[in-house]
Amino acid sequence: MSTKTIPIQVVEQAAASGSACHGGEQTLLQAAQSAGKSEVLERYALDYPKGPHDQPQSMCPAFGSLRVGLRMSRTATILSGSACCVYGLTFTSHFYGARRSVGYVPFNSETLVTGKLFEDIRESVHEQANPDLYDAIVIINLCVPTASGVPLQLLPKEINGVRIIGIDVPGFGVPTHAEAKDVLAAAMLKYARQEVMSGPVAAPKKARQEKPSITLLGEMFPADPMGIAQLIEPMNLAVGTSVPTREWRELYSALDCAVVAAIHPFYTASIREFEAAGRPIVGSAPVGVEGTHDWLQSIGQSAGVSQALIDAARNKSLPLIKSVLSQQKINGRITLSGYEGSELIVARLLVECGADLRYVGSACPATPWNSHDAEWLKSKGVQVQFRASLEQDLDAVQAFKPDLAIGTTPVVQYAKEACIPALYFTNLISARPLMGVAGAGSLIQVVNAAIGNQGRFNKMKAFFGPVGHGDSSGVWMDKPTDRPEFRAENRRQLEKKIKQRKAQEMG
Ligand code: SF4
Repeated sequence: MSTKTIPIQVVEQAAASGSACHGGEQTLLQAAQSAGKSEVLERYALDYPKGPHDQPQSMCPAFGSLRVGLRMSRTATILSGSACCVYGLTFTSHFYGARRSVGYVPFNSETLVTGKLFEDIRESVHEQANPDLYDAIVIINLCVPTASGVPLQLLPKEINGVRIIGIDVPGFGVPTHAEAKDVLAAAMLKYARQEVMSGPVAAPKKARQEKPSITLLGEMFPADPMGIAQLIEPMNLAVGTSVPTREWRELYSALDCAVVAAIHPFYTASIREFEAAGRPIVGSAPVGVEGTHDWLQSIGQSAGVSQALIDAARNKSLPLIKSVLSQQKINGRITLSGYEGSELIVARLLVECGADLRYVGSACPATPWNSHDAEWLKSKGVQVQFRASLEQDLDAVQAFKPDLAIGTTPVVQYAKEACIPALYFTNLISARPLMGVAGAGSLIQVVNAAIGNQGRFNKMKAFFGPVGHGDSSGVWMDKPTDRPEFRAENRRQLEKKIKQRKAQEMG
């Protein structure tokens, strides 16, 4: 196959300005800076570095914060942003089974520029602040209110005992929805930490662990914390709370831990809060034999467990994982890409399951908590790409010609068009156990089943041939006619515009 089936036309930023979510990013950034948001944007630039590549393409970042808020009981989540953004975010939340209302404070140009929007937000927060119903109210500034400097930091910290958390989550400041989860989780941890420091706090519903506990950082498959609990039990350690939490008081127990396991490595701001609380942080995850071996050592050491108990934990779990891995193997070449931030641990597991993994791309950045995984993968000959763009992910599929492409929706679409079996990372890989014994078994099954579909792909390709390919796909009443001249004309116009702008800038 010589060309990509998803045409990617590199359009200069100037021409794209204002035409899409991230078009006009610089304009919005400058507006936000001059509207008093410099400090928060500088913080984001440090916490979520973008380089060396441009911002990855993924869903609206604010979805991450919204999801964290909507999954917490006794928490109201309110959006402040353009109606189209709110529509998209609400739709996506319900698609992912939010089962909660999303609050919205609408605005128009007048309320935005006169500052009335902030007054409207303040009023709605006061109306909502019913302590019988809520522990906390979260207000999220989307792109336009952030760029306009709507000052959520001026909202009261608490109304009638209900905590008020205002955060800015603009697409031009927070690169991915994964990191937006961190923005809200960290804001809540910071608030809870200050409460703890100011005096006694209410006990969480779940009784406090008698053993020293490990807080797990990152949303993971529900069986994984149970699997991890079995792994660490011989060290007399217990699994504590998972962050993002499901209720406010769990934030206190999350902070009250022996060690934080940064299973998902991009929670930079949350980790800052745990470090401020004096908690040690351990990266990577107990995946496969080598991953579990290294992780148990790091967790045990950080929790002050004796080497004898660490070895006891290893001796109990590693033979079981080895046994699962020796019974089945993944036979095939794979490329992997995603925007969840857990790509590297999945990649490690794939390699240990026998896969010939060539490429792993993550929309998330390199951090100190995934450096060990990145080095391990590189030592196995896997190309690791942080802040991977869609183009890089597609190039990897084209270059490595895998037997299976695991990726985001456009990568899967591209692979399937190219007659390559493909699996969605978010729905089919990160929604299953990955850790310990259960993780090894479940991944091998799903991957081998997908690779085994090659014959069906070949049959479909032979049956349909070139029908419905590229521009001629869809339902047509007549035979579709290609009109390359229209595209050529559009491209000519765009190039002319770019030249004009450049000439104006220079003149
Ligand atoms: S909030 Fe920003 S990034 Fe999100 S949909 Fe709206 S314009 Fe796009």
